[in-house]
This record gives sequence, structure tokens and C-alpha cells, in this order.
Amino acid sequence: METMHSAASDPVLLYVATTSAGKLRDFSVAAATVSAHFRIEPLPGMDRMAIAPEDGETFAENACSKAEFYSAHASGKIVLADDSGLEVEVLNGLPGVRSARFATDAGFRPDLPTDEANNLFLLERMHAVPADRRAARYRCVLAAAQYGKLCVRAEGTVEGEILTSPRGTGGFGYDPLFFLPRLQQTMAEIDLEAKHMLSHRGHALRALLASLQGSQTIAPWPPRTTIAP
Ligand code: IMP
Repeated sequence: METMHSAASDPVLLYVATTSAGKLRDFSVAAATVSAHFRIEPLPGMDRMAIAPEDGETFAENACSKAEFYSAHASGKIVLADDSGLEVEVLNGLPGVRSARFATDAGFRPDLPTDEANNLFLLERMHAVPADRRAARYRCVLAAAQYGKLCVRAEGTVEGEILTSPRGTGGFGYDPLFFLPRLQQTMAEIDLEAKHMLSHRGHALRALLASLQGSQTIAPWPPRTTIAP
């Protein structure tokens, strides 16, 4: 049984439902630094499971439906799912929930790996945008569910600017173009511990774990029976 009501010394196992290697790396670094109350592991067998629908209009809708979907197949374990992406101000918040499919949806450079095509397409869409109008943010919504039912969700953001050419070899997705003015580095130039401390995913994870800790919304199993007075 994996519940928030397990013995205090017993870390609670949280499964994270993602097949993204970049997100898994972020989460495994986070797992090493977050509270000793939790252990975070990839959800086993995801490659054999049906793919959760991801057609919501918001990050929250997608994160919640993914967490609910996968937790229904996780034998009572708590499952975390994130939906995240990049919002560029001058593009009115695009690519947003379409971040993973930005280039594909436009039929742009299908010959290239996804991240490379997305970054090139973003640069092309922004080629005439001046330096003072290149503000962007990453947003992440993380949801936790158990037995197919949503328990809690949390959101994190980080503000930055889109460069005119990529910098750095770390991270994934749009990280080589996402510049952090305070550090004067891109998300692809900082190490994973630093990314966890300041990133949208790190903020969302800390907020989610804080809500889960002491949460009464996680169902004990077997369910408590109501005893009539
Ligand atoms: P999804 O949450 O699986 O729909 O995909 C989110 C997409 O947003 C990824 O494929 C990336 O393109 C982008 N994204 C989300 N988080 C990050 C990040 O931490 N770094 C870089 N790109 C990200």
C-alpha cells in the first residue's frame, strides 16, 4: 500500500508518467534533492500502455487527464504527470500546449529531429522580433492522481528570453534558445541541479510535494469504512 498515511520513516513512492528522456532526467535530479518523504521513479511499463489523450486546451487539463489515466493502471500507486511548454509573448503565448508539436503541426522540416525542428521553426517565426520584445516563459503543471482520481495539482513558471541562435548542449526541447537574464546563461548551459532550483518543473514539483505532504486527499487503501454512530 502506498499512501500518505504510511509510517513517517517510509518514503512514499511516486511514479512519474513520462517517456520524455529530458523530463525524466529533470525528475531524477529533483528526486535526489526533494524531501525525504518521497521517492520518485519512472512509471514502469509505460511503453506497453495505451497513450493518454492529450488534446486539452490548457496545461492543467492535459496534466490532470494524463495523471488520472495512468494512475488507473498503477495498482494504487500515486502517479505524477506533467504538461509543460513554452509561451512566447510576441506570439500570443504560442507554442503553449502545442510546444512538442510546434514544427510538426506546421509541416516544418519533417526531416529533422523534433527538438531541432521546433527550435528552427521558433527562430524563423521570430526572425524580425527585436531584442526587447523576445520575452518568454516556461510553464509546467504537475498533477498527482491515484486510482484514476485527481489528488492535487501545482503550477510553476520561469521567465526568460528567446535568443537569436542556440547556446549550450544540456537540457532538451527549447532550452538552447531559452536565456535566463539573471544568470546570463541559457537553460542548456546550466547544470541539472541549477535547473531544478529555478525551472518551471522544479517550482511545480516543490509546490506539488508540499501539497501532497500532509494531504488528506490521497486515499488510504483499503478505503476506510464509515462506522455508523
Ligand atoms: P509535453 O508536456 O510532453 O506535451 O511536451 C512539452 C514540450 O514543451 C516539450 O516537448 C518541449 O518541447 C517543451 N518543454 C517543456 N519543458 C521543457 C523544458 O524544461 N525544457 C525545454 N523544453 C521544454
